[in-house]
Amino acid sequence: MRESKAPILPGATIGVLGSGQLGRMFAIAARRLGYRVHTYSPDADTPTGQVADLELRGPYDDLTAVRGFAAAVDVVTFEFENVPAATVEAAAAAAPVRPAGAVLHTTQHRLREKTYLQEHGFPVTPFCAARSAAEVAAAMEVVGRPALLKTAGWGYDGKGQVRLAGPEQAAAAWASLAADEAIVEAWVDYACELSVVAVRGLDGEIAVYAPVENQHVRGILDLSLAPARVPAEVAAEAQAIARRLLLALDVVGVLCVEFFCLPGGRLLINELAPRPHNSGHLTIDACVTCQFEQQLRAVCGLPLGSTELLRPAAMANLLGDVWQGGAPDWAAALALPDVKLHLYGKTEARAGRKMGHLTALGLTAEGAAARVLEARARLTRSTEIAGTHG
Ligand code: AMP
Repeated sequence: MRESKAPILPGATIGVLGSGQLGRMFAIAARRLGYRVHTYSPDADTPTGQVADLELRGPYDDLTAVRGFAAAVDVVTFEFENVPAATVEAAAAAAPVRPAGAVLHTTQHRLREKTYLQEHGFPVTPFCAARSAAEVAAAMEVVGRPALLKTAGWGYDGKGQVRLAGPEQAAAAWASLAADEAIVEAWVDYACELSVVAVRGLDGEIAVYAPVENQHVRGILDLSLAPARVPAEVAAEAQAIARRLLLALDVVGVLCVEFFCLPGGRLLINELAPRPHNSGHLTIDACVTCQFEQQLRAVCGLPLGSTELLRPAAMANLLGDVWQGGAPDWAAALALPDVKLHLYGKTEARAGRKMGHLTALGLTAEGAAARVLEARARLTRSTEIAGTHG
């Protein structure tokens, strides 16, 4: 389909490929601005579908159905980067797809992404490709030890990752991965993890948020703080890299760049996500314009909004684990008036599954973090007390 730069105005319909929480928060932003939202995924009663105008259910490889979905909307975007290329192509035959399929292609495969970054002069964690246990062991001679073995494709939230102390562990690690292709990365002893959410409009306008500081537990984001507690020059460098990446990848929409910050302040890129990101959820409550509204504005060809952080903030994820002792005590958390609750409408609370998040505002990022952790602890305190009494 021929690309038009004409803005897609409120009242139009946005198609979202994928139906998780990112699509849900995008749909909420889109509906707030007066758009209609259709979502397409293999699932029913989804986080996105619950707030969309239309939830279409079908496999991603039913290209006729995907084309039909795209034909009924004014622009197609996606909420996760692992949409198959053929699906994106089928959608693109009927409606503009933003960002373009090429951005997905680069970022949905760790090896392709890291190779791209290296070839384009971006700072990345040292890595090698491996297609056998022997190649994993050989890669460790190059990247050093310890190392991290990751599947090349379809990995997220620390899934498909094995830490390697030495080459003698290569065979067992390779077998446990059950993949054809993997990446062996140097283990990074970082001082902190940062991410920068940035957005590029259809006309090339760029807006960049202040870096967010992230803490992961077992490979899953646990806590985000903004602004990140790093020197101003480190923050500026992270933002400059995000800006350069938006241009290099020709992104229309939101891009999140995850960094490791080394003790001296040097930055290494860990990962890219060509979409709104978990570490940007605090922009909903803490910024003039949230990352989801920016995605909407970008894909609709509208001017971008201000990324200004109104108050220091912190976000804590709520995984299914919070439900293990029974229903969380929502009232106890909400009794803290500066804490905001976001739930994604998922019915089954499995351990490790992202069910929602809490955001707290504060006078400092540390203060907000303490507050949001207090709120999260309150969710389960009553069940813990009940538990100790049998
Ligand atoms: P990923 O799925 O690659 O984003 O990894 C999830 C998390 O695992 C990261 O945010 C880090 O906390 C940790 N991690 C990933 N790669 C490395 C590495 N090379 N060295 C140390 N920690 C890592």
